[in-house]
Amino acid sequence: MRQSGITHNSLYDVIWNLFGTERRITKRRYVSGGDINEACVLVLDDGRRLFLKSNSIRAFDNFSAEAEGLAAMRETGTVQVPELLGIGKDPEGFSFLLMEYIEAERASGKYWEELGRNLACMHKAPVTGKASFGWKRDNYIGARRQINAGHDSWISFFRDCRLAPQFGDADRYFDTTDRKRAEHLLSHLDRFLIEPERPSLVHGDLWSGNVIAGKGGKAWLIDPAVYYGHPEADLAMTELFGGFAGAFYAAYQEENPLEAGYKDRRDLYNLYQLLNHLNMFGASYLSSVQQILKRYAG
Ligand code: ADP
Repeated sequence: MRQSGITHNSLYDVIWNLFGTERRITKRRYVSGGDINEACVLVLDDGRRLFLKSNSIRAFDNFSAEAEGLAAMRETGTVQVPELLGIGKDPEGFSFLLMEYIEAERASGKYWEELGRNLACMHKAPVTGKASFGWKRDNYIGARRQINAGHDSWISFFRDCRLAPQFGDADRYFDTTDRKRAEHLLSHLDRFLIEPERPSLVHGDLWSGNVIAGKGGKAWLIDPAVYYGHPEADLAMTELFGGFAGAFYAAYQEENPLEAGYKDRRDLYNLYQLLNHLNMFGASYLSSVQQILKRYAG
């Protein structure tokens, strides 16, 4: 019988609840590509395949945030997201997130177009609950905590919950000029950003590594860091490390046209992601951060 909640006492607890107590794991195939967790395809004795992410017990909160993000995206009925099967802390000493396995398939001809349109639809989906910027809980961007305290203004949310905490953590990399520029930027952010009509659910970590070609040749989105924000932040990140085709942007624009001036705002959204990379991976991201600071506050 299916258990209603998603949190379980062990990995087998999830598997037995969903597929019967006679089920056994017969094979584990480890998958590379993730930055943070151990990932593998589990093969059950009935041939079924499931996708497992695991880490230390301490990482449970990370998986619980990811699970809520996947569920929120899936609820919009727009983008393709793997079905969440369960999360938990296993007595063997690991925490885990178990989900539908998306078998790799060659991208169909409409792959990018459909992704662009579906993402635009997700951004246009009605917001549930109180429509403020932020999210019901903090979550994680990569390995780092992402603050999601509710704000009525997008610009103040982006300042207080996105740029300011990252600047604070990156302080050891900065010289006096960088610090002055950061301060100037934070206090004049309203000169550069605009308020959207309303908050939209965004993926939050939309680089090409978080898009996989699966069932039906369609694009599936994984590993979100969702919140209610400005759709432009997602679009900007697709451009940060490249990899999205022109058809994606054309279809997105047709469904949810971007406001004029997006290209002037794009690098500010990506400044958040670059600061996060600086804080996670070190000084190789410093010059990209400095260039953006110079451009907006030089
Ligand atoms: P991490 O949390 O460590 O960054 P990811 O979520 O990026 O891990 O997953 C690691 C790799 O596993 C990804 O590069 C992707 O190719 C693959 N992957 C993730 N989720 C699934 C899934 N549901 N089905 C199949 N492959 C997946």
